[in-house]
Amino acid sequence: MRRTVYQPWHEEFRSAFRAFLDREAVPHVASWEAAGTPDRAFVKAAGQAGFLGFEFDLSLGGLGIDDFRYNAVMTEEVVASGMAADLFSMQNDIIVPYLRDLATDEQRARWVPRFTAGELVVSLGMSEPGAGSDLAAITTTARREGDEYVLNGSKTFITSGATCDLAIVLARTGERDGRGTSLIAVEYGTTGFKRGNPMHKIGRRGQDTAELFFDECRVPASNLVGEAGRGLSGAITNLPRERLSIAVSAVSSARVAFDLALAYLTERIAFGGPIAQLQSVRMTLAELHTDIAVMQTYVDRCVLAVDDGSLSAEEAAGCKYKATELQWGVIDRVLQLFGGYGYMEEYPIARMWRDARVQRIYGGANEVMKDLIGRRLVGA
Ligand SMILES: Cc1cc2nc3c(=O)[nH]c(=O)nc-3n(C[C@H](O)[C@H](O)[C@H](O)COP(=O)(O)OP(=O)(O)OC[C@H]3O[C@@H](n4cnc5c(N)ncnc54)[C@H](O)[C@@H]3O)c2cc1C
Repeated sequence: MRRTVYQPWHEEFRSAFRAFLDREAVPHVASWEAAGTPDRAFVKAAGQAGFLGFEFDLSLGGLGIDDFRYNAVMTEEVVASGMAADLFSMQNDIIVPYLRDLATDEQRARWVPRFTAGELVVSLGMSEPGAGSDLAAITTTARREGDEYVLNGSKTFITSGATCDLAIVLARTGERDGRGTSLIAVEYGTTGFKRGNPMHKIGRRGQDTAELFFDECRVPASNLVGEAGRGLSGAITNLPRERLSIAVSAVSSARVAFDLALAYLTERIAFGGPIAQLQSVRMTLAELHTDIAVMQTYVDRCVLAVDDGSLSAEEAAGCKYKATELQWGVIDRVLQLFGGYGYMEEYPIARMWRDARVQRIYGGANEVMKDLIGRRLVGA
């Protein structure tokens, strides 16, 4: 079935972005995996080419494009390129709404031109060693003292945490009977703020994930992003878009894995003919193909819904959990079909398998997604 979500101009954008990745990313994927992070020259090149923060106005260095289909095209191309780095999804899909919808004009003027130019990598620090799924239990504090906030605590598993120039941090600020949280932006270089080293992960090694530490870290009160005491609500508002971004990458990744399997099994001979011709393998391929097509239709529908503002929290949660379960199931079965070669690092399916595992955990664990949907259904 032909996908109808994209228009010719999205496809033109896809070609331009694919050419950019072929030139600037693909030759370096292995070295970024070894280094644990894409290099800054690439981030800068992406900014200069207009691929970072294009939703912002021209005056801030953006392209004034407010259409999530462009984000989805980028995610699909990043997956197809084999680049296991979350730079674009993190900056464009997750960070942009914080800077666009919650930041003040003064903050946007301060940060966004560098962000769109690829000179300001931003991380989002919510998870902590003692609180990930249950963000209401965070213990990092930001105490108000005159014109400053003083931060104490730590964050963990933060994407771009080792290399970020600015961290937007969820901290307890004590409003509303001590339960209030706020989002505070902390610039790298601020006394009392330390970025950890890249953590050793089983997958997505081309992207740094790190701890952030705050020890009597003083930032101006003007670094408050959004409303004081409503940090968690701000974060929750942005979660459907984050979850949809994960779903887009998940179904794309499943499709890439399927295509690899089809090509390989058509060539690989066993029992006197191509493995793809064995009846049980044909049936497996038929199942995977159909499952991916069905999932793709729902993901595309959710992309349109996020654009018209109708994507609900439970639809995004369902899309994220279903697409990432599909991704895992497809990739695991495809690896099996590659036999021993599938377990070898030089075969892309091996890396895809490693990279896929976390998709069911971050952005909210899939169990949390189901809990969210179930609660809405029964009004709990
Ligand atoms: C590579 C990577 C990148 C990440 N990037 C970021 C980032 O940029 N910023 C950020 O803030 N965080 C980030 N995270 C953190 C991620 O969002 C959390 O790991 C995730 O939300 C789960 O939290 P936790 O690890 O503390 O698990 P826990 O909250 O301890 O939960 C453990 C497990 O318990 C189960 N569980 C928990 N709650 C429920 C429930 N209500 N019902 C049923 N089962 C449940 C689930 O199986 C869950 O996986 C990242 C994590 C990874 C691994």
